[in-house]
Amino acid sequence: MRRRLMDKLICPLCGGFPLSLSVDLEERVDPPRDWRPCERYCAFLDSEPGPSPPCGECLSREVVEGRVACPRCGAVFWIEGGVLSLPPASDKILKWFRGPESAGP
Ligand SMILES: [Zn+2]
Ligand SMILES: [Zn+2]
Repeated sequence: MRRRLMDKLICPLCGGFPLSLSVDLEERVDPPRDWRPCERYCAFLDSEPGPSPPCGECLSREVVEGRVACPRCGAVFWIEGGVLSLPPASDKILKWFRGPESAGP
């Protein structure tokens, strides 16, 4: 899971945003050529992205092991083998962040 995803990810249980990321193991990967900076929350800065956020970093870090926690409802979602596990109820949200950038919820 790229760090960049944290910019799009809302809690599937309560809609909380932003979620907090804890990383146990991370790998460096090549960022895509046409990357765009985070829009609302940059997990690399752990805050709102500024005017020129270092989001090449968000995209060149693959979180292999770790967890994503919701500060609002306390839910915890695990990242194992680079895959974030979300409950099945989150299909709508998955569609939203997998879809085109312009498609909001
Ligand atoms: Zn970023
Ligand atoms: Zn929540």
